[in-house]
This record gives sequence, structure tokens and C-alpha cells, in this order.
Amino acid sequence: MSEILLLVESKDGALDKKSLELMRGAGELAKELGVGAAAVVVGDQVGPLAEEAAAFGLQKVYRLEHPLLKGFDSGAWAAALQWLCGQLNPGMFLFSHSFVGKEVAPRLAYRLDTELTTDCLALKIDPADGLLIRTKPIYGGNAIADLKCAGVPQMVTMRKNCFEPMEQQSTRSEIVGMSPAIDESALKVKLLKTVSEEVVELDKANVVVAGGRGIEDKEDFAMLEALASAMCKTHGNVMVGCSRPVVDKAWMSADRQVGLTGTIVSPDTYIAIGISGAIQHLVGMIRSKKIVAINTDKGCNMFKVADYGVVADYRELVPALVKKLEEQS
Ligand SMILES: Cc1cc2nc3c(=O)[nH]c(=O)nc-3n(C[C@H](O)[C@H](O)[C@H](O)COP(=O)(O)OP(=O)(O)OC[C@H]3O[C@@H](n4cnc5c(N)ncnc54)[C@H](O)[C@@H]3O)c2cc1C
Repeated sequence: MSEILLLVESKDGALDKKSLELMRGAGELAKELGVGAAAVVVGDQVGPLAEEAAAFGLQKVYRLEHPLLKGFDSGAWAAALQWLCGQLNPGMFLFSHSFVGKEVAPRLAYRLDTELTTDCLALKIDPADGLLIRTKPIYGGNAIADLKCAGVPQMVTMRKNCFEPMEQQSTRSEIVGMSPAIDESALKVKLLKTVSEEVVELDKANVVVAGGRGIEDKEDFAMLEALASAMCKTHGNVMVGCSRPVVDKAWMSADRQVGLTGTIVSPDTYIAIGISGAIQHLVGMIRSKKIVAINTDKGCNMFKVADYGVVADYRELVPALVKKLEEQS
């Protein structure tokens, strides 16, 4: 098997956390298979980003530069990556299940005549044949499937927060500069304007205070907001999230939903209030470092995964907690 590649993405000119997670995934798979792992940085004048990526210790960073790769054009990026795969013949290519990954990976898979599995939650190698086992939700999240495909390169898009982000290493990657043979015919879409949207990025929170169907009134979420702001002083970025029934009732926007069909989070602390612990919710928060559950039902599933559990009515416990935190600050 030859090299494992991953596509690097940036945000405001800096490496995106999703790419650090892919580096971890690629690094672990490469170690298991005894092959190299490399990050691919695409754009025009992306030297600083390639230097940043090189600090994470994969064998190589490919710096794929061309004036047509400035900004993001899925046609140009797919053409450049097709050219790169022609040069390197990689065994695997990992993408984030992001706007960029979802735009580029299917185009590339088609051009390379291989199979792509999107929205994966986990990856492992089948020791019998060395193929990638791709775990992903199917039937709208009602089941989880393990899939294998024989096409090369083996291609996936990964959900964020499924690997721990890679830390900087003492050894730096070798940076290899390349200029793909592409031309204007690769540009299929004309970007007219970019409109940015305000989105709650729950996965950036240090602490998530999440409410579920056990919260009786929409107004009671003010208690969770009060707990979040009392914790902000000591814990930094604290956000309020929720389970799906809360979104279904239109009490909160979908970007606050944690779970299989919402956001996957791994904060330092996750406080589940009035959430029973259905599997579709657990998938979204089980990687939290500490889980605190507040629930009236001592047999609920959330207590089975919690580090700390309080059998209590949130209407009594949460205001008392807020009072205590305010007294201490
Ligand atoms: C395809 C599919 C995808 C899904 N995706 C998601 C997803 O992404 N995220 C998600 O969350 N769900 C998802 N679901 C829904 C999921 O199956 C559960 O229905 C949902 O997570 C239950 O939410 P809950 O725990 O808030 O509600 P419940 O299961 O109704 O639990 C409410 C809890 O509140 C407790 N409670 C009640 N009153 C109080 C009180 N006064 N004080 C303290 N505790 C109290 C109860 O004891 C109970 O444990 C999905 C379902 C399907 C079929």
C-alpha cells in the first residue's frame, strides 16, 4: 500500500482543527499499515500554511500551488488533486466532511474511478485484506454500517471530532512544492458573492450545558443560560446545547443540537440536563472529557456514561448551582 494523504483546510489563514484531526487519523492508519502519511495544502502562495502543517510531524507536506487555486473553486481543486494522485498514486485519501470536502471528494473519486464513503464516524483496517473499514450512519441515522470498498485510492470524508487533534511534534515534515498541470477549463463555477452566516459552533465550547425534553418550558432554558454564564468566568467558552426534541419543538436552532444528526462535541465538561441518553444523543457527546448528568430518573441511560450524576429536578438544582457559583466568584 502506498502513502496516505489528507486534504488540509484553513480558516482565516490558519490550519483548521478538522485538519489536525485528519492528521491524527491518517497518522494512526499509516503506522498500522507501515506506510507514510502526508498532508496536502492547496492554494496560491500557501507557504505559511504548509510550514504550519509541517509542525505536526507527518512524513511529508505537499504544497500544491497554482494561481487558479486561489480561494476555493471545487473544479480547480479537484483537477489539481487528480493531477497529484496521478503523480503519487496514494493508497488512501482522507477529507473532512466539510463544505470543501463534500465539494471536492466526490468529484475527485469520480475522476479517479474509485469509491468514496462520506460522513464517516470511525475508520479501521481490516487485518484480513488491509482494506479500510468505514463506519457511518445509514437510513437517516437509524443504523450504523461498516463498509469496505476495493477501489484505490480508498477515499472517505470524516465528521469532525472523531479523532483527537494532532499535537505539534519535535520532528518537522518534509515540504514538497508542486505545481499541478491545470488550466482555466477546470473552472466550472463562477462565484458571484459570499454571504457569511452566524452559526453557533458548539464544538468550540469548553463546556456544553445541554437541555433535553425534560426541560418543561422554553423559558426554563434561561436557567441553563444562567448556569452557562456563571461558569463562563472560570471555564471560558461555555455554550448551551440541546437534544433533538428541543429542536423539533423549535425552542432552539438546529446548530445547537448535539448528536448523530446534530453536532459532535468533545468539550472538557458536558452537562446533560433532562436528557435520557438515547444512542443518537450519546454518539454526539460521549467523547466529552467529563460528563455530568442531572435527571429525575435514576435508571436513565445518561447516568451509565456520566462521571458525576445528580438525581434531582433541574428546577431546584440548577438555580442552586448558579447561586453557589455566583457566591464563589
Ligand atoms: C435517525 C435519528 C436521528 C436522531 N438524532 C438525534 C440527535 O442528533 N440528537 C438527539 O439528541 N437525538 C436524536 N434522535 C432522537 C433520539 O432517539 C431521542 O429521542 C432523543 O435524544 C431523546 O431526547 P431527550 O433525552 O431530551 O428526551 P427523553 O428521552 O424524553 O428524555 C427526557 C429526560 O428528562 C428527564 N426529566 C424529566 N423531567 C425532569 C426534570 N424535571 N428534571 C430533570 N430531568 C427530568 C427524564 O427522566 C428523561 O430521562 C434521533 C433519532 C433518530 C431516529
